[in-house]
Amino acid sequence: MTMVTRFAPSPTGPLHLGHAYSALLAHDRARAAGGSFLLRIDDLDQSRARPEWEAQIYDDLQWLGLSWPEPCRRESDCTADYEAALDHLWSRGLLYRCTCTRRDIAEALSAPQEGAPVHGPDGLIYPGTCRWRHPGERNAPQDHPRPRGVTLRLDMEMATAQIGPDTPQDAPIASFEETGAGPDGQTGRIDITAQDMIDGVGDVVLARRDMAASYHLAVVVDDAAQQVTEVTRGADLFDATRIHVVLQKLLRLQTPGYHHHRLIRDDNGKRLAKRDDARAIAKYRDDGATPADIRRMVGL
Ligand code: GLU
Ligand code: ZN
Repeated sequence: MTMVTRFAPSPTGPLHLGHAYSALLAHDRARAAGGSFLLRIDDLDQSRARPEWEAQIYDDLQWLGLSWPEPCRRESDCTADYEAALDHLWSRGLLYRCTCTRRDIAEALSAPQEGAPVHGPDGLIYPGTCRWRHPGERNAPQDHPRPRGVTLRLDMEMATAQIGPDTPQDAPIASFEETGAGPDGQTGRIDITAQDMIDGVGDVVLARRDMAASYHLAVVVDDAAQQVTEVTRGADLFDATRIHVVLQKLLRLQTPGYHHHRLIRDDNGKRLAKRDDARAIAKYRDDGATPADIRRMVGL
């Protein structure tokens, strides 16, 4: 199988050194294996995506010496794919609408019987308030069109039970191969149990009022559509990977390999964010740096 890697930036700000590292690493790994490197524009969040940032992405990556098959996939052109995936999950009774605000969730979790609130890869673990608010939709989804323009959550307990109907909750229902390392050095085969998902992740949001699909749903659909065999990305996404693997199982998609890489940090050891314009590739270019200088700065 030829190796296919990808770099999937969101056009919501300038690419910085951390992005340069991720893109160069994915590109180098594909090249070393005789495979291909793909670019994808993660612009599903239309409230934050800007054409000028997208143009800057192409420009910066070309300047770095990267190339990719054109045209690249742009999420905003592919909403039908996400709709189809959501319809599939809806038809299996796995999705429900949620009208909770952040504050509703925090209040529900502060009730004395709830114990200490737990944070998962997606924030506070959802307390399940809306799970059975519309039992008709859950029990006979085929009789109800999937509602649009609302927040839809995945019922994680039901989802994991559908993946491994006969598997005890503390035994693996899925796994993935990590060839890089998670934040705590996790590598090799990483098992996922229903218990991890129910207690440590909870009912994640898969569709939003103002967005065709959440990042978690879109990334899984995109990586499958692009036939990516290795997802190369920062270790900050390691914890979210189990959500992606569960979605792959539910949607009957292949699980690619994962290569999570170290994060590039600023001089104070803080990881770079989009707002760190000082570390923007464009800024280094303006200051006369060469692509080789950038490679050296990120340790490649
Ligand atoms: N657009 C996402 C980001 O920039 C992609 C994450 C991923 O590689 O899965 O964080
Ligand atoms: Zn709710």
